[in-house]
Amino acid sequence: MSPALERPHFRRVALIGIGLINGSLSLVMRREGLADEIVACARTETTLAKARARGLADRTTTVPREAVAGADLVVLGTPVGAYGAVAEAMAPGLDPEAIVTDVGSIKAEVIRAVVPHLPDPSRFVAAHPVAGTEHSGPEAAFDTLFERRHCILTPIEDTDPQAVRTVAALWRAAGSNVETMTPEHHDRVLAITSHLPHLIAYTIVGTVADLEQHLQAEVLRYAAGGFTDFTRIAASDPVMWRDVFLHNREAVLEMLGRFTEDLAALQRAIRWGEGDKLQDLFTRTRAIRRGVIKEGQAYDRRVLANATAGEADNGPDAGGNP
Ligand code: NAP
Repeated sequence: MSPALERPHFRRVALIGIGLINGSLSLVMRREGLADEIVACARTETTLAKARARGLADRTTTVPREAVAGADLVVLGTPVGAYGAVAEAMAPGLDPEAIVTDVGSIKAEVIRAVVPHLPDPSRFVAAHPVAGTEHSGPEAAFDTLFERRHCILTPIEDTDPQAVRTVAALWRAAGSNVETMTPEHHDRVLAITSHLPHLIAYTIVGTVADLEQHLQAEVLRYAAGGFTDFTRIAASDPVMWRDVFLHNREAVLEMLGRFTEDLAALQRAIRWGEGDKLQDLFTRTRAIRRGVIKEGQAYDRRVLANATAGEADNGPDAGGNP
């Protein structure tokens, strides 16, 4: 790869949606000097004012078509359910040469929603930075969010290899480890590693929310590590997660089916007092946790205790990370 591609430079970048992810990407591009000009687009003036206050954009607009005019890089960063409408709205202003990419948490449906609207579909490189927190909006952005995290690119047969290299170089400049896989494979992997855990957290916290008032107060008062971890995950953005489940339906339902079978097996082991089965499983799962820490995708709490609060939140599945 040429030095230029190793460290990309853009004349004008349009960030469509300026929340946690695109806001953090903006801070990275500022810090690394990757763009001459950054234009941000959101639905509301309130969000744009917050983005300006944090220096996330040189110009802001609520009109996608205006935001992308003259941009050589466009990054979609709205909830995925809005992608089709946003792509349609921005298309008339888009330079056919521009590279269009995204940060959405699912990939197959994103490609189906966006590609039909683009003047040159080969310039669309679907991407997913596997990094996040349970916080959202421009105020939640920070420039180390993507460091030591994976960013998964899911090019399809027609995708321009040069555009893929440029997007890969962008994420490497953000400190991420870039991986490539098919959109369908991505969606299955993320269904088990991220979507199912979020669904379980939403369920457990929802169950507590439905408990009688006095019991609920006790649960909240004595919440230990287990429950508080679930509440953090279940505090993730409701709209974003609604869209993830609606648009990765098949893969999530498949993983949910396997999970409910395993849960029923555990239920049976408890009912029949089969301690060996429980202990075997808990021994295997402990080893998995150690493997995850070894991969650098989670922190040991003893290490975490010495980290700053911001860094502590930047776990790969620190709440919002889908
Ligand atoms: P966010 O902080 O909630 O920001 C979303 C942005 O999109 C806001 O600027 C919002 O503008 C705009 N927006 C919302 N609905 C819109 C619509 N219908 N049309 C146009 N703009 C709209 O979201 P985020 O956490 O950065 O997530 C953005 C994307 O990154 C999602 O696709 C998500 O799947 C993906 N992702 C998220 C995480 C995570 O942990 N959060 C991790 C990896 C990937 P207004 O405020 O004006 O509505």
